[in-house]
Amino acid sequence: MSNHGPVMPIWNCAGCGLPWPCRTRQQELRAAYVDAPVSLSLYLSSYLVMAMQDLPGTPAGLLHRRFMEWTREGQPREESWVRVARRSL
Ligand SMILES: [Zn+2]
Repeated sequence: MSNHGPVMPIWNCAGCGLPWPCRTRQQELRAAYVDAPVSLSLYLSSYLVMAMQDLPGTPAGLLHRRFMEWTREGQPREESWVRVARRSL
């Protein structure tokens, strides 16, 4: 079991005090879900919903980036909607 769990309702890491999920926890989760990225997204989105309730003053987009965005790092394939968005810039 990881020491780097979330401290609720402030959502800092119990292990290192950084905003959760911290770098260490991200690496642990990425390793644990290496073959199941969809499961990782579902797992994190359940935490994201809890965090949005606990941190109502924090913009949802910011929390979404914090909880979800890093899961796509290192994945070379862009989602199709990203390509469409880039073309229209
Ligand atoms: Zn940590």
